[in-house]
Amino acid sequence: MVRYLIIGNSVGAVGAVEAIREIDHQGSLAVVSDEPYPVYSRPRISEFLAGKSTMADMLYRPEGFYQTHNVQTYLGRKAVKVELGSKEVRLEDGEALAFEDLLLATGGVPFVPKMDGQGKEGIFTFTTLGDAEGIARRLPQTRRAVVIGGGLIGMSVTDALVKKGVEVTVVELKDWVLNTILDQDAALVTQDALADAGVRVMAGQSVQKILGRAGDETTVGGVVLATGEEISCDIVVVAIGIVPRTELASGTPIQVNRGIVVDRRMATTVPEIYACGDVAEAFDFIYGINRVIPIWPNAYLGGRVAGYNMAGMETEYPGGVAMNSLKYFGLPIVSAGLYDPPDSSYRVMRSLDRKNRLYKKLVLKDGLVVGMVFVGAIDRAGIVLGLMRDKIDVSSFQDTLLAPDFGWASLPAALRREKLTSNGRSPSRGPSVLSGRARV
Ligand SMILES: Cc1cc2nc3c(=O)[nH]c(=O)nc-3n(C[C@H](O)[C@H](O)[C@H](O)COP(=O)(O)OP(=O)(O)OC[C@H]3O[C@@H](n4cnc5c(N)ncnc54)[C@H](O)[C@@H]3O)c2cc1C
Repeated sequence: MVRYLIIGNSVGAVGAVEAIREIDHQGSLAVVSDEPYPVYSRPRISEFLAGKSTMADMLYRPEGFYQTHNVQTYLGRKAVKVELGSKEVRLEDGEALAFEDLLLATGGVPFVPKMDGQGKEGIFTFTTLGDAEGIARRLPQTRRAVVIGGGLIGMSVTDALVKKGVEVTVVELKDWVLNTILDQDAALVTQDALADAGVRVMAGQSVQKILGRAGDETTVGGVVLATGEEISCDIVVVAIGIVPRTELASGTPIQVNRGIVVDRRMATTVPEIYACGDVAEAFDFIYGINRVIPIWPNAYLGGRVAGYNMAGMETEYPGGVAMNSLKYFGLPIVSAGLYDPPDSSYRVMRSLDRKNRLYKKLVLKDGLVVGMVFVGAIDRAGIVLGLMRDKIDVSSFQDTLLAPDFGWASLPAALRREKLTSNGRSPSRGPSVLSGRARV
């Protein structure tokens, strides 16, 4: 019988392990993962593929993490069933692990749509270190690549491939890249940077068929778009997005919408079973609803909250926000919250300098910042993000927010004092579970 059982061995699991061990040093704790590696930084697999990080650099926690935290690991082992009656998780090899409290930190799986020509050698997804290793092994035979999907994962693999000298074409179904985090103007600035890096972006297009090579149907040789155009390539990377990996909840009363439904304690609808990270639908403090926000810091925070509650310390998830900070093709971007308002009740402030690749946009509602996009110059984005997180009424100084010289000094003196005395913590929220180490 394991006191705490965690399925998944990524950032959500780490948040939970660290929180549990703050409270309970003795209770047995086990982590199961079908990946063979100790916990690594998934967002950095692009650096690994680009040859900028070694396997050792990828580790998210130092070697010895599991021993220090007294965690038994089952790595390279897949969980296939949760038996609620006997409170057991069955592994693929037949072993059953009985638990008292269970955390599903199973993340997401890449979505691969049906296309003609699948199953060929040279077709990859890009969500695991194993995927990065697979692509890296194929690089010596790779001159040209087609990346299907111009979202975050598509940009991440494209950046790495370009650094390795591969000629990349990105095929994106929607009208512009990064369309889940950028509006059209921000995306056009980004596409300028992509073009400079030699990347061809085919927006508003889709891949209908993956072709084989002349004389070798089993290996990728190109793709055919819905328009009939053919593009030659040596590999195809399918990077359309990820879907929550909810399979262990199916056939149980654990409620699943898009992701596993959790309350503010990260508890599912079944007692003693929790979920966090990319698999969970947790509270979004900007939208005011529960939804899947598949980003690293939210998974860590959700894991911590789940861990505290599993160990008996009542803790509430303060809410997450969709926040992405990236730097691909030398262009820094920060996007957070509701970057594209649904109606005219929102105030939108923008400044665009496409030539110099600079864009700023703020979305305000009732005096509060609810969304932002910064492209090019992002050094003050953190201050604005803080105002958004802390729900500070910016009405009295909103016109300074986009000024080139906006900074701490632009904030009202009383607010600056409050920020200083709160010692870096969210003044509105007091001491918080945010105190862990979530950095990628
Ligand atoms: C290429 C890429 C770039 C990214 N860049 C960023 C970024 O810049 N910033 C950011 O905030 N986020 C980024 N993300 C997203 C971020 O990595 C995720 O939000 C985060 O990893 C989610 O953590 P998690 O703990 O929920 O699950 P995951 O990291 O998805 O891990 C879940 C683990 O559980 C295992 N598992 C699942 N089911 C089972 C089972 N049945 N049995 C055994 N094991 C199982 C999986 O194999 C996996 O190892 C990126 C993701 C990718 C793929």
